[in-house]
Amino acid sequence: EEDAALLAGWAEGEDRAPVRRPAPVLAIVGRPNVGKSTLVNRILGRREAVVEDTPGVTRDRVSYRATWAGRNFTLVDTGGWEYDAKGINARVAEQAELAVEFADAVLLVLDATVGVTAADEAIVKMLRKVRKPVILVANKVDSPQLEVEATYLWSLGMGEPHPVSALHGRGAADVLDAVMEVLPEFSAVAETELTGGPRRVALIGRPNVGKSSLLNKLAGSERVVVDPLAGTTRDPVDELIELGGRPWRFIDTAGIRRRVHMAQGADFYASLRTQAALERAEVAVVLLAADEVLSEQDVRILQLAVDSGRALVLAFNKWDLMDEDRRYYLEREIDRDLAHVAWAPRVNVSAKTGWHKDRLVPALEKALESWDTRVPTGRLNAFLGEIVAAHPHPVRGGKQPRILFGTQASSRPPRFVLFTTGFLDPGYRRFITRRLRETFGFEGTPIEVSMRVRE
Ligand code: GDP
Ligand code: GDP
Repeated sequence: EEDAALLAGWAEGEDRAPVRRPAPVLAIVGRPNVGKSTLVNRILGRREAVVEDTPGVTRDRVSYRATWAGRNFTLVDTGGWEYDAKGINARVAEQAELAVEFADAVLLVLDATVGVTAADEAIVKMLRKVRKPVILVANKVDSPQLEVEATYLWSLGMGEPHPVSALHGRGAADVLDAVMEVLPEFSAVAETELTGGPRRVALIGRPNVGKSSLLNKLAGSERVVVDPLAGTTRDPVDELIELGGRPWRFIDTAGIRRRVHMAQGADFYASLRTQAALERAEVAVVLLAADEVLSEQDVRILQLAVDSGRALVLAFNKWDLMDEDRRYYLEREIDRDLAHVAWAPRVNVSAKTGWHKDRLVPALEKALESWDTRVPTGRLNAFLGEIVAAHPHPVRGGKQPRILFGTQASSRPPRFVLFTTGFLDPGYRRFITRRLRETFGFEGTPIEVSMRVRE
């Protein structure tokens, strides 16, 4: 019956999937050892489906999809920072500030058994300036007897301290309820750009690949409008750049232009900024340096882009430095390391000379067109019928799973659901994915194929 309902819901002619409005963002901040990670696990552990299953990025991931009381939000964990001995207070505040920049609300965690330290005070001072809703967690209140310790935290002037034991779960539900009261329905950082308007581009890549050079080159000869978003004190700044006769919104160009020098945790910030930019973008341009060997960091950034589900264009910069030798090796590197994103259009550019900069727009347009694509259910099932007839699923243990029906559940990016009589082999699923690409194109967009097994 559930299947029938799903089928009805995805019947032919149903409207396009709406633009996914970004979920609100909650940042968890606090000095080391107060219990942030424990609290994050507690929040994520409440339900099994809340942790996004994205293999390969666990190491660097700093934001999580979470759910409470039926509402989705993004949890930004600032626990991954490294600290150095000197200047720790300033550093803690500085780091919290960056996380908070992208947040709609803040969970400030303190250790009630220790009380207020100088590092806590540094964070509080920063939070006063950014004027975002703050929920105060008095952690390590493992028993009712300890609750009195929490009351001392009223002195911070940050409102009511919520006594919590992240370790045992005590009080966690109350805190989340309080969070839900202050979190907006959708992320305010992205509020201005939900429907229509210029298409949104995240230009990402490791330091020194030429992001700011390319941005300058693109903007230089064209009209540039610096477009700060209203509503927050330290806004990421977008730029509207006219290319190919229409404006494009380049996301968080402040992050590209501003040289942030932070020795400790620099990767962490870069990762956070990249994820925040991707969250707001529709298409990512991953910039790579053609003259250098693909680095681990390049691969990681690329993975963030792929995992974000945004349309993707690969741009190889510094092409002016290329010679025949390097070209040969580059092709081999691409075959070896970028095979999993062979579907992304590639452009070779030189930010220095401006060579091929006009190739970027057609690639962006192509990728976005694919990202928006919706395959009608009738066409999809004709396609499935043909490939299943020509290449049936191999028999496994006397059984042969069949595909009953397929539908595209959403676009941006295209997501397909196959209704089957049993689990399809991963190899068979890959085969179908490949055929989907061969048949419908999808150049520049990730696609997703999932199954629903009818027992
Ligand atoms: P972080 O550095 O802020 O992420 O802190 P962690 O989550 O790593 O916790 C630091 C230490 O405090 C760990 O040993 C935790 O087990 C402990 N801890 C965290 N929450 C609680 C709590 O609610 N009660 C008690 N007693 N210990 C806790
Ligand atoms: P970002 O850190 O990614 O913003 O990189 P930048 O734009 O600051 O560039 C880093 C360095 O690479 C600078 O010295 C640029 O002049 C240089 N650069 C950027 N693009 C090119 C290019 O296309 N060709 C050459 N030869 N150098 C480039």
